[in-house]
Amino acid sequence: MAYMTGPTKRKTAENKDDSLRSRLQANAPHYGVEGCPQCQGLGLVFDPLAGKMGAYELCQCNKERCQCGGEPPYLYFDAKKNGMVPCPARGAYIALERIRRLNASSGVPARFQNRFLDTIDVKDRGISLLIALDHAVETIFQYGLRNRPDAPQLQGLYLYGSTGTGKSHIACTIVNELIRLYQVEAHYAKISRDILNRIRESFNTASDSYGMGGRIEKELASHEALVIDDFGVHRESPWVNSTLYDLIDSRYERNLLTILTSNEPMDSWKDVFGGRVYSRLRQLCIEIHLDGDDYRLKDSRSIT
Ligand SMILES: [Zn+2]
Ligand SMILES: [Zn+2]
Repeated sequence: MAYMTGPTKRKTAENKDDSLRSRLQANAPHYGVEGCPQCQGLGLVFDPLAGKMGAYELCQCNKERCQCGGEPPYLYFDAKKNGMVPCPARGAYIALERIRRLNASSGVPARFQNRFLDTIDVKDRGISLLIALDHAVETIFQYGLRNRPDAPQLQGLYLYGSTGTGKSHIACTIVNELIRLYQVEAHYAKISRDILNRIRESFNTASDSYGMGGRIEKELASHEALVIDDFGVHRESPWVNSTLYDLIDSRYERNLLTILTSNEPMDSWKDVFGGRVYSRLRQLCIEIHLDGDDYRLKDSRSIT
């Protein structure tokens, strides 16, 4: 329909972005002015054009009402009360500092830093990517309810598909979104290279990290949200499978959000380690299959 092209069509696309953004932000703490068209109350915005990689900053609504000049501890003198009181933008300043600190230690690889769910380009992509993104949005929405007394057990995701289907990209945007929206300690780790080598090394008496195995595992088991990239089946190594089992078992018991990516379906774990990993995975995660064209080769840019 020719009359639908042009401004009308663009408007529809904008509305879709707005509704995705408000769904994502629905349960997040708001540090801005309610109804602000730029931040929808969040109080912070991400400027993709700032610096080399883009940067977070205070939304205009907070800049305008700031009374403290942006200096910690973000207090100002109130003549009526004849004393120092918190600046209206104080919450946003503190959230901003926390986001910067958490991003710096999230472990997300450089190519996926500052990528968000609403900037993933879904044009000409398969249905499985759209389904995975829907689950990612739902996961983030549910995460905001985790402290309510009636909140259900957190459900993570098990994203599986071959190389280049976009599973690591989606997993990393979830880490970025959790930090942006809730300022929680969300972390990315790649299982094969980082974790196993570090843990193995820590059992070698000649190694500098000897004896640190327990600490590394404890650290991974306690991140508020964790992405484990390349959660592969190790049929030959009972030690590795037992380590992986302990990790996901501990995260399940503590109701901590865990997102896994794998080249193999969850079923592949059935005959490994007495099926124990498999049964925990089923409780911990929703399985999502990503298939289709080579996503990474087709378009490595996601910020539009
Ligand atoms: Zn605003
Ligand atoms: Zn201020």
